[in-house]
Amino acid sequence: MDSIAKALVFDGQVKVVAFKTTDLVNEAIRLHKLSPLAAEALGKVLSVAAYMSNELKGEKEKLSIQVTDKGALGSIIVAADAGGKVRGYVEHKDATLPPLGNGRQDLFKGVGNEGFITVIKDLGLKDPYVGKTELVRGNLEEDFAWYFTRSEGSPTALALEVLIEDGKCVSAGGVLVQPMPNCPEHILVVVEDIVSGFANVGDILKAKEPKDILKDYFGHFEIEYFPETTPVYRCKCSREQMSNAVIALGRADSVNLLMERGEIEVVCHFCGTKYVFSKQDVIEIWQKYDHKI
Ligand SMILES: [Zn+2]
Repeated sequence: MDSIAKALVFDGQVKVVAFKTTDLVNEAIRLHKLSPLAAEALGKVLSVAAYMSNELKGEKEKLSIQVTDKGALGSIIVAADAGGKVRGYVEHKDATLPPLGNGRQDLFKGVGNEGFITVIKDLGLKDPYVGKTELVRGNLEEDFAWYFTRSEGSPTALALEVLIEDGKCVSAGGVLVQPMPNCPEHILVVVEDIVSGFANVGDILKAKEPKDILKDYFGHFEIEYFPETTPVYRCKCSREQMSNAVIALGRADSVNLLMERGEIEVVCHFCGTKYVFSKQDVIEIWQKYDHKI
């Protein structure tokens, strides 16, 4: 089962989070019919979003992540609500490239390394937090590690893998390690040594649950465990919300579309759910809109 396990180690000087997101990635594959390349890339961004949204404090806090570059996949868009509830899509979900072997895809060409990661966090304040860093490698784990280090000011080591075999995700997740600002050098050396053992984190997650990874790798130091959470793929779309797409079309275009097709179909990018609006529905949507303004 998917889970996010978190602990503070070395008397609170280092934060360690292990997360397993295999079921979540398989749900994304099922909903979007992703190519293996798209599954690995979107799966990695969904996994990081699951971790990040689990760090949000308030129930109503949320975030979105955009990875934009000129690779074969195009843009990757992910949104998340507090507690590890994520959803997302990739622009070119059918894109394929020759794989690298061992269940790993060529993300360098799939994503690219000239674009950006943009994170927008809605923390219920007047203005949202916006962080943006350039992609450095295109493999996404080093790119997000750089994002946390550079944009959020938290030097981070991140191991992240999504292994795809025969169109299915067989293992997904990662381990994130963040030393606190004044963490002493001798602890950093120990941590660095442990982190080097996570190069094949996908294989480790096949055999161990996240809480066992924390226990096995860090349990012999002073450690304080936090309650585990379960990340899930969850879309929040509704008929009400999707009716905004009709408004976004504009009055003239929505009428033209109705004349042409007899109804307006809107598909949610995040989960693929189709919403069909009849002529009567569209009239009511516009009446409601006129009433509001
Ligand atoms: Zn949806």
